[in-house]
Amino acid sequence: MLDRAEGIYMWDTDGKRYIDGSSGAMVSNIGHSNPAVLDAMRAQMKKSTFGYRLHFQTEASELLAAKTAALAPEGLNKIFFVSGGSEAVESTLKMARRYALTQGQSQRFKMISRYPSYHGCTLGALAITGYAPMAAPFDPMMMRMPKVAAPRAYLDGLDADDPATGLHYANMLEAKILEEGADTVLAFIVEPVGGASTGALVPPAGYMQRIREICTHYGVLLIHDEVMTGGGRTGHFFGAEHWGVVPDLVSISKGFGGGYVPLGAMIARDDIVEAVMSAGGFIQSFTYAGNPLACAAGCAVLDEIEKHDLTGNGARMGDVLAQRLHGLMQRYPLIGDVRGKGLLTAFELMADRDTKAPLPAALNAHSRLVDIAYDNGLIIYSRRTRGGTSGDHFLVCPPMIWCSRTRPATWLISCRSWA
Ligand code: PMP
Repeated sequence: MLDRAEGIYMWDTDGKRYIDGSSGAMVSNIGHSNPAVLDAMRAQMKKSTFGYRLHFQTEASELLAAKTAALAPEGLNKIFFVSGGSEAVESTLKMARRYALTQGQSQRFKMISRYPSYHGCTLGALAITGYAPMAAPFDPMMMRMPKVAAPRAYLDGLDADDPATGLHYANMLEAKILEEGADTVLAFIVEPVGGASTGALVPPAGYMQRIREICTHYGVLLIHDEVMTGGGRTGHFFGAEHWGVVPDLVSISKGFGGGYVPLGAMIARDDIVEAVMSAGGFIQSFTYAGNPLACAAGCAVLDEIEKHDLTGNGARMGDVLAQRLHGLMQRYPLIGDVRGKGLLTAFELMADRDTKAPLPAALNAHSRLVDIAYDNGLIIYSRRTRGGTSGDHFLVCPPMIWCSRTRPATWLISCRSWA
């Protein structure tokens, strides 16, 4: 049971200390109990803890909107606050549809996503989440949205650094758009770096740029789901900055509130919002959206990231972590792949590195290794996915305040007995 947390550490009620090697679920990017954030929250609480946004704007929400817009790609200055990742994703889907209607394109309703992928657990977000077992129990309530393969070059035996590989996977999107009927496709949603679904999978060279071109060509809105990658975790504030690509709509959450408050946002292209607003407005009424306490905490989180260059530190520490994990990979054949960007880092266990065969599911490696780490005072985040067809991967994503004197990888020695 969790008792308290500070910096990169967490203590249970027995007094045992853990390194938070996954920042919760890639949320506590600036570490726990940051004094500046707690002060900002206390100051806001003394003024007001809640004000309904249809009654009052607050200084906190206006400031956070301005700070977020300043960080966002050029041309995306419209910020809609929500309270989490699924809400942020749903908002982008709804905004896309509302925009299509203003353009006289009511036939556009298909939202293409990738398989595997994760975009949230509300019914709308689940419709585009590429993980069939999560959606299946809700049939026939589920919308069935088209999916294309996520580019997993390492499994397909392709060179991720070769632009032909990026082109190969992007062509699959184009083929899917044509198969569905280009004028029926509303949007394509993509995690710039894969999160829970693919385990920090970085897209192959040229992929992000080419899907942008394809979406523009067919009038399909490009949505970047930056719920996990946003907030500096990959070494840029937004993950897509690595490829210089500007989407039409963005969802963020997790590191945006930094684990201090439930907070998320949709960030939208100015002209999209202007068109929707002049056609009657964007009707969405999450009660807690933009509440002053969440926004005050969000402002302090962004200030701390900037003041201490935590994005830069995360990028540097990401290199250190990747180096150490690659070192372990050389020693332990069980580690089949190490990947990621910045401190969104993962490794995958495989039975055979050459054939990429996963470990037998019955071995339950993903939960066993998490238990070993836990016993050794380290928290990591694991999934067995490859869309149900693989693969034990582990996200090692400490807070961006991590410095290399703490060594979250040493516990891996414990898995020697499996090799
Ligand atoms: N999108 C992505 C990329 C995510 O990683 C997550 C959460 N893991 C979500 C959406 C959903 O966020 P939430 O759990 O806050 O609803």
